[in-house]
Amino acid sequence: MGRNIDSKCKQCRRIGEKLFLKGERCASPKCALVKRNYVPGFHGPKGRKRLSGYGEQLQEKQKAKKYYGLLEKQFRLTYQKAAAKKGDAGKNFLKLLEMRLDNVIYRLGLASSRSQARQMVTHGHFSINGRKASIPSLIVKEGQVIKVKKSSQNSRFFKEIGEKIKKAERPSWLNFDYKELSAKVLHEPQDADLPQNINVSMIIEYYSK
Ligand code: SF4
Repeated sequence: MGRNIDSKCKQCRRIGEKLFLKGERCASPKCALVKRNYVPGFHGPKGRKRLSGYGEQLQEKQKAKKYYGLLEKQFRLTYQKAAAKKGDAGKNFLKLLEMRLDNVIYRLGLASSRSQARQMVTHGHFSINGRKASIPSLIVKEGQVIKVKKSSQNSRFFKEIGEKIKKAERPSWLNFDYKELSAKVLHEPQDADLPQNINVSMIIEYYSK
């Protein structure tokens, strides 16, 4: 699978918003956007260009794509799936992105970034309803139980993140069992669970052209 090898902090600086791609560093004063809030490159400090309507839509799409750490093909395919479903395409799109297994692991606080979550999934640390789940793009379903595999629970990583897991804030659609290191999907994400920093209607307009 391809991956974006562009510097994570440069991606944020190009967009001009925190995309939380680097775990704990993003909440610290070391965040590159706090120190250098301008576009990377020689002309960056001169300021950001004014965007056309199309440019704004493109930028919003790029932002969401980087936020979830997807490449264009995966992102567009997810949009097409959402558009084919009944109901509001924008909400369906964000729900599908939120219900990806890698995002769920991140939302549970088991990983400090989505890229770390993706790596943990591909390394086979999780099961869904007792069966190994190593595909980050897998969409979780209501009633499913996602669990850290017994063999992985004994690893140093999971033993050391104990306190962090306790403090993590989790969305209401995931019920986390701290002792079992497992989570049940109670229902689909509600409107309040969807990211408020993404203007999804602009993305829908971009793809509808
Ligand atoms: Fe973005 Fe995090 Fe880097 Fe800040 S530290 S620029 S939020 S990736």
